[in-house]
Amino acid sequence: MKLVFASNNKNKIKEIQQLLPSTIEIVSLEDIGCHEEIPETADTIEGNAILKANYVTEKYGYDCFADDTGLEVEALNGDPGVFSARYAGEQRSSEDNMDKLLLALSNNPNRNAHFKTVIALNVNGGQHLFTGIAEGQITITKAGSEGFGYDPIFQPEEYLQTFAELSSAIKNQISHRGKATQLLISFLKNKK
Ligand code: IMP
Repeated sequence: MKLVFASNNKNKIKEIQQLLPSTIEIVSLEDIGCHEEIPETADTIEGNAILKANYVTEKYGYDCFADDTGLEVEALNGDPGVFSARYAGEQRSSEDNMDKLLLALSNNPNRNAHFKTVIALNVNGGQHLFTGIAEGQITITKAGSEGFGYDPIFQPEEYLQTFAELSSAIKNQISHRGKATQLLISFLKNKK
């Protein structure tokens, strides 16, 4: 079975392929000749994952899955949420995004936040959603140099370090994306 991962991130594709039985072949957007930018215009994380997966299935006719992630901060009514990548503008700078978030929270004592990843899977004419959540706190200052995005200001629950201070092996075990991916993998394995 051939399954498109609506991504061109070779590391993500390789990682997921290694976790799946060899009867399922994961291919990238490049592999199917999709070089255009897929619109991400929905106003929810779920909506964007669905938009991306449906784009590939409808335009190219393949079974496909796509993911979308956002950081939802309680005291900011769920912002930056679906706008996480471009919270501080279209330059999509992680430093600017973190600075804007720290400023928006200022010294607010409610630092509760979570990352949410939704994976939308289109397979055999049906659609399935898998959601992974990592609960935690927004720190007062940045710490750590691993990872990407908001990792230096996100401290997952039950840890004293930020995501950017944890190894990628630990982050993958407890992260939103790791959890959603595990649900997808279990589903695909049981489907065989
Ligand atoms: P995407 O949907 O995976 O492209 O994620 C959207 C945005 O959310 C990214 O550009 C990052 O700013 C942020 N983000 C997603 N996943 C993570 C993560 O694991 N750590 C920190 N930031 C993340």
